[in-house]
Amino acid sequence: MTSQQVARLREVDVQALDAARLEPLVGTERMAEFERVVEAAQTSLAGRSVLNVNSTAAGGGVAEMLQTLLAYARGAGVDARWIVIEGDPAFFAITKRIHNGLYGAPGDGGELGEPERRHYEQVLRRNADELLALVRPGDVVLIHDPQPAGLAAALKRAGARVVWRCHVGVDEPNEWSERAWEFLRPYLADVDAMVVSRASFAPSWADPSRVHVIPPSIDPFSAKNEPMSGRNVRLTLSYVGLLDGAAPQPAIPFNRRDGSPGRINRRVDVLQTGPPAPPGTPLVVQVSRWDRMKDMAGVMEGFAHHVDPSLGAHLLLCGPAVTGVADDPEAAEVLDECMGIWRRLPHATRSRIHLACTPMADPDEAASIVNAIQRHAAVVVQKSLAEGFGLTVAEAMWKERPIVASAVGGIVDQIDDGVHGLLVGDPADLRGFGSAVEALLADPAEATRVARNARERAVTEFLGDRHLRQYGRLFEELAKADGG
Ligand code: UDP
Repeated sequence: MTSQQVARLREVDVQALDAARLEPLVGTERMAEFERVVEAAQTSLAGRSVLNVNSTAAGGGVAEMLQTLLAYARGAGVDARWIVIEGDPAFFAITKRIHNGLYGAPGDGGELGEPERRHYEQVLRRNADELLALVRPGDVVLIHDPQPAGLAAALKRAGARVVWRCHVGVDEPNEWSERAWEFLRPYLADVDAMVVSRASFAPSWADPSRVHVIPPSIDPFSAKNEPMSGRNVRLTLSYVGLLDGAAPQPAIPFNRRDGSPGRINRRVDVLQTGPPAPPGTPLVVQVSRWDRMKDMAGVMEGFAHHVDPSLGAHLLLCGPAVTGVADDPEAAEVLDECMGIWRRLPHATRSRIHLACTPMADPDEAASIVNAIQRHAAVVVQKSLAEGFGLTVAEAMWKERPIVASAVGGIVDQIDDGVHGLLVGDPADLRGFGSAVEALLADPAEATRVARNARERAVTEFLGDRHLRQYGRLFEELAKADGG
């Protein structure tokens, strides 16, 4: 985008869903509590809109969550809306650097100085011109992550209550995280509230009275998480090319977020030596964006060198098609690196490792394919080097899968080691990672035990009613602070 161009904001269509469908899972008492909070929030919002602003409509945890959470809010009578900002490649290179920085990593190693600040502000000014036309005084605007953070001041001036929701964070601050926070700091001076997934993720200079800890959630009825028969799981995986077996044109159904039925039509782009894994093969699976912090390469090395081949397992690394995630300029590079490592492995090892890119043209279909992959997994891994809160971890917990994950960031709030899965203390410890995977592959009874505990915890802590209840309370607080 040049300085002359005006950004074209995209408003994502948000459906309305009745959260009452969660009641069979969470019980009547919890549902009644949810309704009480919703009513109070409606009063404090007094007909105002809740606008969510982020930088992509698909790919990654934020888009995943907004898709259904906003639908429940809308179903509860809140005018929840979702606006996606626009940027050019230079803008997204800068914001990815900030994103990596907040995870304590250098990213592409580029600068975050005055020229970067100028470009960041210039792109956001173009977006602000359009966005302000949609905002009325008293509206609540939830700004998600670093990309749109620089819009906060303009929104405040327009009379909105502004909340910055940061989905990332690092356990131990370092020079990279400090640098990224210094870049963001001036933009966050006036926000009414800052929401983080863990208390330790808030920057040291944030006013503690404005920091709110709200962990994310998953929707058990979305195409990503809805129940799926074992038969449909197998049919899906062989149809898309991830399991061996005849797969002519089965009509594998899924439910779209607008309630209409869909059917799987597209195949996955897979890099493998020959045929896909035979249906009975235990699959170790990591589903993640092609992002260095997810360490897909480390998963591959850990599996290749530290998981005993006699256990018969295959590894499936699955990420979105690299053209599908607009705000992620590193994805193609990371995928290339993984393919390079894969090609250098001995043939016998390589034949047990599959790299897959899910088609992103139809987000509900993509979600349904991921649903089948996660449900089929013998072990789900999330070997992140840093993590805000692993939605993939919560998804696997909900699906009652045994999990091996790094003990980093929000993951340690999701999994107690040995109770809801196995944690690897040092995310760089490939041997420890391999042993944990082996332990679950070799001991089905133990795998079943931790998976059951995981499912129970997912229901208690990671569903949308809990999440929306916390937001409802936050809106009440903001209204009180405003005297509204
Ligand atoms: N995801 C997906 N397809 C992929 C890879 C990831 O749908 O090929 C989804 C995944 O199921 C999860 C989200 O993207 O819902 C990732 O969220 P998470 O919190 O794990 O990580 P983030 O991408 O936000 O860093």
